[in-house]
Amino acid sequence: MDFEFHYTKEQERFREEVRAFIEENAFKEPVVTADPLKLTPELYKEGRELERKLGAKGWYAPGYPKEYGGGGLEIEQCVILAEEIARIEEERRWAGRSEVYSIQTSGIMMHGTEEQKQRFLPPILRGDWAGWQCFTEPDAGTDEASMKSTADRDGDVYIINGTKVFVGLTPVLIYDEIYLYWPAVTDRKAPRHQNISAFFIPGDLPGINYLPQNLIAAPGRKWQVICENVRCPADRLIGEENKGWLVTQATLAAEHGGGGSAIPRNRMVLRFIEYCQKTLRNGQPISRDPMIQDILVKIYIEYNVGRLWGLRNYAMSQGQIPRVRYTGTQTALHGKLNASQLEGALVDILGPYCLIDDPELRVLAGEIENRVRMSELSHVGGTPEVQKIMMSRALGLGRGGTRAAPPKR
Ligand SMILES: Cc1cc2nc3c(=O)[nH]c(=O)nc-3n(C[C@H](O)[C@H](O)[C@H](O)COP(=O)(O)OP(=O)(O)OC[C@H]3O[C@@H](n4cnc5c(N)ncnc54)[C@H](O)[C@@H]3O)c2cc1C
Repeated sequence: MDFEFHYTKEQERFREEVRAFIEENAFKEPVVTADPLKLTPELYKEGRELERKLGAKGWYAPGYPKEYGGGGLEIEQCVILAEEIARIEEERRWAGRSEVYSIQTSGIMMHGTEEQKQRFLPPILRGDWAGWQCFTEPDAGTDEASMKSTADRDGDVYIINGTKVFVGLTPVLIYDEIYLYWPAVTDRKAPRHQNISAFFIPGDLPGINYLPQNLIAAPGRKWQVICENVRCPADRLIGEENKGWLVTQATLAAEHGGGGSAIPRNRMVLRFIEYCQKTLRNGQPISRDPMIQDILVKIYIEYNVGRLWGLRNYAMSQGQIPRVRYTGTQTALHGKLNASQLEGALVDILGPYCLIDDPELRVLAGEIENRVRMSELSHVGGTPEVQKIMMSRALGLGRGGTRAAPPKR
């Protein structure tokens, strides 16, 4: 069966246009590192500028409607853009991307007013603002509905109090205009799930404090964010008051894989297979060993399963609004389980080399060490156990998708 794209002549012409633009604007030297924390602040800033250049052409959020700052492009063009940027990344030359993460947009796309869409989406879709999803609290992770953050209406503002943990993405805080996607309890007497509202808080309001959290494994730096009597304008409420659970679900659908991806996030597998073909061990390419061939074939198959499911989800969401159905969590679960299988394969083939980040000895410029370190990082966006529960609910098994968890005593 043929799972590859076949492009029309017009689409190939678009590829040429994209390639010329990227060649002109991309970093000329290899700068991309496996660990975003190793990017210097200067490079990070420059990379963000590149994303903004893409944004000005509608290529940062290519699949989104033009009236909100997207590119209005068809799926094949979005894939072409992503492929071309990935090609440059293979040379470690690019520090941007051409795919706004739908986690940043789906709440507003689904539940924002038209005025909010016009106001908030263009800066996000053009790469000017970065959004942080502030959901997890010290006592509310998987059980998000147990959150303690509060928002109390006072005239034309809500007064926000609470603490979120493990949030944020960027290596450094100060170079982005950020907003905080922050659900909080607005009705202390209402039942769980019916007591929460969602806010889009400007990240620089007085009373917001940021404390870095240094984790052994994280894709960038994580932060603890504390709101102390923060006065958030009431027009930053997304969706109706006390209907914030719906907004939260729209965002989580993206995080649970529902937004998909135009190209696979796991392309390291292909680079690793090539490395095994080209690198000699005892005078032979590593890939000649029949045991290793067996392992490589298995990881290649899993890579393609993840690639096709990611692409399927991307196509189903039209690169914009993720659907809440089993397909997202299926892909997320596969990715999480596959990460630890992949780590096992890397350890089996490379032994201690996969734990080394020494510039002389490391494999694939540190990508392998980074991947092995990240492999047990399965909590992000919900643990594997929880993905299984959500998937079974979406399939109509278990408790059913609509029944809320019982109130806590
Ligand atoms: C690197 C990293 C990045 C993150 N980024 C963000 C972010 O940007 N924004 C954000 O809001 N959060 C973020 N998180 C937080 C993440 O979403 C939470 O860690 C996750 O939801 C799990 O919550 P918890 O850590 O409190 O674990 P807990 O909820 O305490 O879970 C502990 C264990 O209990 C299990 N468990 C819990 N409930 C059940 C159940 N009902 N059935 C079966 N097993 C269960 C879990 O599977 C897990 O093994 C990030 C976390 C990490 C590690």
